[in-house]
Amino acid sequence: MIIAIDGPAGSGKSTIAKLVAKKTGFLYIDTGAMYRALTLKTINNRIDPKDERAVCDLAKRTQIDLIPNAHGPIQVLLDNIDVSVAIREPRVTSRVSDIAKLGSVREILVKLQRRLGAERDCILDGRDIGTTVFPDAERKFYIDAAFDVRVERRYKDLINLNIKGVSREQVASDLKNRDTIDSTREHSPLKKAPDAVFIDTSAMTIDEVVNAVMSRIHTGSS
Ligand code: C5P
Repeated sequence: MIIAIDGPAGSGKSTIAKLVAKKTGFLYIDTGAMYRALTLKTINNRIDPKDERAVCDLAKRTQIDLIPNAHGPIQVLLDNIDVSVAIREPRVTSRVSDIAKLGSVREILVKLQRRLGAERDCILDGRDIGTTVFPDAERKFYIDAAFDVRVERRYKDLINLNIKGVSREQVASDLKNRDTIDSTREHSPLKKAPDAVFIDTSAMTIDEVVNAVMSRIHTGSS
């Protein structure tokens, strides 16, 4: 079974996806981490995000692995090096949407996501899982929250990761910028699949959202 969870940054989708993966035993695939890992590599190699050909060539020479970890967040390996924390740094976050909007780059990463999804039961979170990567996913959710709530959550995430020197204002401007690029881009823009269940998590606890998702997984609605 494939469970697709889409939504903007800070909506709570990755927190929910991880917890639902734990409860169901499904493999959790953080597709945003893949775009982030490739973005980090473009920074390390001083590649201009506007140079689609160079970014695409780099993507073809890149290995990204997501290693599940029973005791904490998944480990993200970029060419066998652990980049789990580095990919959350502001220098990556501020550039990732410019890399993710490139059609040829998406083709490569979507292929990888489909390959992983074909191997076993999975829960994937991202922007285009229910619309493009797995349009036939058995369960689809679109998770959103009010802008201010999303900013606060992302800000707390960064503090928990010990990433210092980022203000709420910076987080807000980054979210706004990514929302715009992600939802207006030509290839697989962020949008709710018509058959996805919409959940507004603004006023919900994590447990409430997990329960809402789990009950729909069991009952089979969407
Ligand atoms: O989920 P996360 O915020 O880590 O994703 C980082 C960025 O990766 C998003 O802002 C978006 O530009 C891109 N992304 C995407 N498609 C996905 C997952 C992430 O375009 N399926």
